[in-house]
Amino acid sequence: MLGSPRIGPNRELKRAIESYWAHRIDRSQLEAVAADIRAATRSALTAAGLDSIPVNTFSYYDQVLDTAVLLGALPPRVTGAGIDDDLDRYFAAARGTADVAPLEMTKWFDTNYHYLVPEIGPATTFSLNPEKVLDELSEASGEGTAARPVIIGPITFLALSKAVDGGPAPIERLDELLPLYRDLLGQLTAAGAQWVQLDEPILVTDVLGDAAELAERVYRYLGETDLRPALFVATYFGSLERVLPALASTPVEAIGVDLVAGGDQPVAAVPELADKLVVAGVVDGRNVWATDLESALGKLVALRAAAGAVAVSTSCSTLHVPYSLRSETELDAALRSWLAFGDEKLAEVATLAKALRAGRESVIGAISASARAQESRRSDPRLHNGKARDRLAAVLAAGTTRGPAEQRRTAQDARLHLPALATTTIGSYPQTVEIRKARAAVRSGQIDQDEYERQMKAEIAAVISLQEEIGLDVLVHGEPERNDMVQYFAEQLTGFFATRNGWVQSYGTRCVRPPILYGDVARPEPMTVDWTVYAQSLTAKPVKGMLTGPVTILAWSFVRDDQPLADTANQIALAIRDETVDLQSAGISIIQVDEPALRELLPLRSKDKEDYLSWAVGAFRLSTSGVSDSTQIHTHLCYSEFGEVIGAIADLDADVTSIEAARSRMEVLDDLNAMGFSNSVGPGVYDIHSPRVPGTDEIAESLRAAVRAIPAQRLWVNPDCGLKTRKTEEVTAALRHLVEAAQLVRAEQ
Ligand code: GLN
Ligand code: ZN
Repeated sequence: MLGSPRIGPNRELKRAIESYWAHRIDRSQLEAVAADIRAATRSALTAAGLDSIPVNTFSYYDQVLDTAVLLGALPPRVTGAGIDDDLDRYFAAARGTADVAPLEMTKWFDTNYHYLVPEIGPATTFSLNPEKVLDELSEASGEGTAARPVIIGPITFLALSKAVDGGPAPIERLDELLPLYRDLLGQLTAAGAQWVQLDEPILVTDVLGDAAELAERVYRYLGETDLRPALFVATYFGSLERVLPALASTPVEAIGVDLVAGGDQPVAAVPELADKLVVAGVVDGRNVWATDLESALGKLVALRAAAGAVAVSTSCSTLHVPYSLRSETELDAALRSWLAFGDEKLAEVATLAKALRAGRESVIGAISASARAQESRRSDPRLHNGKARDRLAAVLAAGTTRGPAEQRRTAQDARLHLPALATTTIGSYPQTVEIRKARAAVRSGQIDQDEYERQMKAEIAAVISLQEEIGLDVLVHGEPERNDMVQYFAEQLTGFFATRNGWVQSYGTRCVRPPILYGDVARPEPMTVDWTVYAQSLTAKPVKGMLTGPVTILAWSFVRDDQPLADTANQIALAIRDETVDLQSAGISIIQVDEPALRELLPLRSKDKEDYLSWAVGAFRLSTSGVSDSTQIHTHLCYSEFGEVIGAIADLDADVTSIEAARSRMEVLDDLNAMGFSNSVGPGVYDIHSPRVPGTDEIAESLRAAVRAIPAQRLWVNPDCGLKTRKTEEVTAALRHLVEAAQLVRAEQ
């Protein structure tokens, strides 16, 4: 195993940390919970019979932040803030305080985990603080465990950091870090470590042009350390390709390759591997499907012929999957047999290792069970919906382009009569305590479905009348009935199921429970029509229907691995398309299909990006091309750095695109112009990520800047994201200012 989940089987760590933040428990109580979680993890790994147990895989918030602490790389604004307690200082770096801005957060490779971005600038002076690693090592060694500390390697650490205050690219400072790592290796040896794992996932990406030279330089240097544990360089999330021979030429003892995300890597072609241990990641560490043991064993046996020795492991840390299937008591036996969460993956690793050591026959029972599960998954009728597949083929054959944009604009103007600089919001309104209570009450049976619906309708009516009173042009129903923008749809589509306790860490104490997309997707019944139609019945202004797009549903679920993602995306797209058609028939004239995750799913390697963008755009267009030209399609994208996806945004061909711009000013409009984008756009003019209420003048200034880039006729005025996390008072004031600013600037045109 390259690493384990750490939030606790029932999110014990999340609860304890949040209690600590709220001053309900003290540091020693928090530390006791943390120690229990670590002990339970170690004993599960030991009981499975692993030869080597990863430690230092625990974290109070994030492993990259832990590494910044290890290397003395917290920014001066945190270290100089006068926070005496080191844990409080750590949390200040992670979440900020009234006086200290936190580190930025971003996605960990192409997973849904987010890490904190270390800041390296002229003021950074690296220094070694190995206490956490040494403590976790000694607590394990005390039990007689063959513990292997896991540490993020220097190349990955620097490549994931950002330069600040005019400093050079962090990777330029590699030579300063290497002696610290060498020192650390010495201290780990003195503390009894036989092995150390250095994680270098960055080596599978294109981020560094000279990854092979860097890998060779760093691991030659560290390999030549006199007193050190055996070195295991772990890579994951892709193929090592060119870097593998370079790394294999260094004195490291073991190299980890991801044989799931990276496919079959050219191990046999690298003669230097003949005297290395290859740690073969054959068990998928970040998806929930059970391993086909026979096929994995085949790969392992082939590898053994090429490498000095082979060890079995997960492809990456199981941080990215839930703890255990044990709590999923509602699954039927077939479904359960297809799945493996953290505990079950551990058992798979142990079984495969035994097979490699003692022969296939020694685990024949497990291999036959695995074969039966694979066969059941292939043949289960729930996976194959012939009718849905035939319909998809027919719709795709008929084409998914809408009428020309100009023609659509004319038809929509005639139907909607909207002013220039039309005002709207992104979909959700504040999720109040009452809404949450009602949802909990209906789940626990305290109130029935009718009462729940009555309460949700009351909420919708309140949100509609608030918007009318503020004077917005295009209204929304406010999404009170949605717990989550993906789960809400997953619960109503076939092909998905929800877990009871399948929580995974998204960042810090935030956990998500992604639905599992196991079979062909179809939409048995309308999902949003009643709510939207009810909202529309309360007002003469247009109410915008609100749907989640296919790419986002895919990105925030555990997705079947038995067919190309593009095919699955199209199946979801067809279901969303059915919903748009029903909304239109019910009289809804504007429909928004949100794709906040469009950029998130972008593959790590440049060579894979074009193909991805082409099917992602295709799925969006499939989902939005079933309606007539006079129905206006909106989309919403949730990030300000468009970079590689800017061309795709134009290709989506939505009539109106709302985007985050409040924090990045209006530069994005110039970028869109440069792409020849000629549809309408709503650059966010209210930063909903902050409790600050922008003033009318400030919003008007942003709008004037926008009008300089894009004619007012094509501009919309809106916040930069949904309002669900904000307070009603803030939202009301900000939206009033937004409408006033739109009126001001409209009058200037
Ligand atoms: N319509 C969604 C909302 O307003 C969009 C959320 C998002 O952008 N992530 O909440
Ligand atoms: Zn958003």
